[in-house]
Amino acid sequence: MNKKELAASVVERLKQKYPGAVCSLNYGGDPWRLLVMGRLSAQCTDERVNLVCPALFERYPDVYAMAEGDAADIAKYIFSCGLYNSKARDLKGMSERIVSVYGGMVPDNMDDLLTLPGVGRKIANLILGDIFRKPAVVADTHCIRIAARIGLCGEGKPLSPEKTEKALAAIVEPDEQSDLCHRFVMFGRDVCSARSPECGGCVLADICVNKAGKPS
Ligand code: SF4
Repeated sequence: MNKKELAASVVERLKQKYPGAVCSLNYGGDPWRLLVMGRLSAQCTDERVNLVCPALFERYPDVYAMAEGDAADIAKYIFSCGLYNSKARDLKGMSERIVSVYGGMVPDNMDDLLTLPGVGRKIANLILGDIFRKPAVVADTHCIRIAARIGLCGEGKPLSPEKTEKALAAIVEPDEQSDLCHRFVMFGRDVCSARSPECGGCVLADICVNKAGKPS
């Protein structure tokens, strides 16, 4: 089985296991909110981000309100997410730029997204895939770990986020990339965890190069 065939098989099996491929951040379909929540999720759990954001969005309901907000005040709402000072500066900075340069609309392409403070390729791909339904690989910790273990890239050893993104983009069908990454998150939490993958009952065990389950 070559890499593209392996990828297609992984896609089909995880699609059966997780018919719904939903983002674990509760952003309510609002592009700017997903951008904010994506930034907050750095070194923080999605669960924590989902907990703090209702109060944050009540205080700052849209990009215009946050662009005019005070970073020190924003920081108070996101304290428990960690790195709150730099995250608060980025939230204000990205909102200001969206208002001043993009007319209040979140950009729909990688180059412009990467000009926003605090936005790297992971968040940009999240926006491109979830909001604009473009081919996009979100190389987060689950995606990097699982793709390497299965043997899709890295030959069992995790690659850098960018190398993982490029490798998966080359072998996963474009319209499956975004959903596969959401499924990797669910699968990583349920079965193929960082410390103790449950290879015994895994739907990928017969095609996974690391089915012995040694954490890598
Ligand atoms: S067989 Fe084990 S290491 Fe491979 S994907 Fe399944 S749980 Fe992860």
